[in-house]
Amino acid sequence: MTCPFCQIASHAIPAKIVYSSPDVTAFRDVKPQAPTHVLVIPNLHIGSIAAMGSSHPQLLARLFNAIDEVVRAEGLATSGFRIVSNSGPDGGQTVNHLHFHVLGGRQMLWPPG
Ligand code: 5GP
Ligand code: ZN
Repeated sequence: MTCPFCQIASHAIPAKIVYSSPDVTAFRDVKPQAPTHVLVIPNLHIGSIAAMGSSHPQLLARLFNAIDEVVRAEGLATSGFRIVSNSGPDGGQTVNHLHFHVLGGRQMLWPPG
């Protein structure tokens, strides 16, 4: 098993985990791009949104439930935040295990780079 996020989900390598359930894990990004930068992943290896397609509809709901929990726990619900899921080469995806970035604690810019 070489996927780093599979290894984090199975606790084979350490991470600062902030939320976990049987289906979803959330942990702090090792190279944070904002005061709060959490990654929310399915424990199951799915490569990206594109690889997910319309399968696993319940999993998508659980991922967004986890995002909501993280946003509240990090105190971002009122100040605001950004959810990002980079997919594929043009999206700038570097880890090929579906993940949602939860970024907050500073003013975000638009358009993204
Ligand atoms: P992507 O570029 O695929 O959208 O995002 C991958 C993110 O994973 C990056 O922000 C990167 O800093 C983070 N990352 C990569 N490897 C690790 C790791 O082993 N542990 C943690 N906590 N974050 C990682
Ligand atoms: Zn994986």
